[in-house]
Amino acid sequence: MTTTRFAPSPTGRLHVGNIRTALHNWMLAKKHGGRFLLRIDDTDAERSREEYVEAIRADLAWLGIEPEGEGRQSARLDRYEAAFAVLKAAGRVYPCYETAQELDLKRKVLLGRGLPPIYDRGALDLSDAQRAAKEAEGIAPHWRFKLDHDEPIEWTDGIRGAQKFDAAQLSDPVVRRADGSWLYMLPSAVDDVDMDVTHVLRGEDHVSNTAVQIQIFTALYAAGFAAAKPLLEFAHEALLVGNEGKLSKRLGSLGCDAFREKGIEPEALIGLLARLGTSQPVEPITDRAKLIESFDLSTFGRAPARFDDAELERLNTAIVHQMEFDTVKDRLPAGMDEAGWHAVRPNLSTVHEAIELWRLVTGPIDQVEFSAEDRAYLAEAARQLHWSDDPWHALTAALKNSTGRKGKPLFLPLRQALTGMDHGPDMGELLPLIGEAEARARLEKAAHG
Ligand code: GLU
Repeated sequence: MTTTRFAPSPTGRLHVGNIRTALHNWMLAKKHGGRFLLRIDDTDAERSREEYVEAIRADLAWLGIEPEGEGRQSARLDRYEAAFAVLKAAGRVYPCYETAQELDLKRKVLLGRGLPPIYDRGALDLSDAQRAAKEAEGIAPHWRFKLDHDEPIEWTDGIRGAQKFDAAQLSDPVVRRADGSWLYMLPSAVDDVDMDVTHVLRGEDHVSNTAVQIQIFTALYAAGFAAAKPLLEFAHEALLVGNEGKLSKRLGSLGCDAFREKGIEPEALIGLLARLGTSQPVEPITDRAKLIESFDLSTFGRAPARFDDAELERLNTAIVHQMEFDTVKDRLPAGMDEAGWHAVRPNLSTVHEAIELWRLVTGPIDQVEFSAEDRAYLAEAARQLHWSDDPWHALTAALKNSTGRKGKPLFLPLRQALTGMDHGPDMGELLPLIGEAEARARLEKAAHG
């Protein structure tokens, strides 16, 4: 069964980049009838907050991306301990005593010589006596995973194609801090094993983590931590950049709240993020099954995907124009029925704007100043107003006959007198909603003040 996971760290709100990753993992799972899991990466106790965990759940719910299950790293520490124990017994993790300053100095020396700043495995040269001396000084070790320099690291990335790494060109990653807490690398691999994850889809900033984790999976299986499974499928997507072409601070702070406040529908955000950075067109698709059906990693490009607010707004407008009354009715102004929604919908760019347009029906409307000639015309209009199924077309046809006006002079003063605006929803749909008495009152007020 295809199983994907979205693994945010609850150290802040989700931003548009995370949302995209969540969405793609969800779509990948749904496309194959599989499971999408939420994994809360909260091993960093200091920076993780419960309020962000709740916000992540709420944001996913707003987006309609429902996980089939949720896991939490802080509840799984015994599993990391167990994995660590088997790796230690197998000699695949080793204690290190360098301070941050010492490591920094080593890095600088290498960089100064034009060499890659790879950890020199100095800790592996320590004798038992030297280690004991460090411990006696009260220096607790941090722990590194020992990469196997002879084991080739290769995978076929769902987006980037064939990938090959030389383990000797990577630093042995620190997996555990001196205070016993966990860094990202090992818990994530342990979770992927325990949660039967089959596909890891994440940002390309994780490519070198994948290289390391491939060896961690192999080491865990070899050490008997779990029954061996086939290697996961990996895909790394290009990063999302702002319209200005860079990773921007603004994008990093743009989350569901900001979109909701701007009147962006989840369907618009999803429609855009589903296709952004792929060779498929961004279209106002409200049927998620269609989006899921068309989801295809092979259409993802390797160039950064550009997020453009204007494109999102255009898509949002197109989506609002398709939305059915039943979907929006709870968010509409009191009294607005299906006919009202259909009358105003083509003029909206957000659902929220319906409130403003509904005022054209319920009043009060803005008063427009008319010339004497137009006032006489509007007085005539009040007299010619006869109610029917289609009062607007009856009225304008009658006025055309009796006054000889046509085009703008025929329509505009009527629209202004009836709605207080120069533009707006189709009058044929709006006038029946305003109703006969109110319409007559508005025309008379415009004519006589
Ligand atoms: N917590 C990690 C992150 O947010 C998860 C990466 C992963 O998908 O493994 O970058």
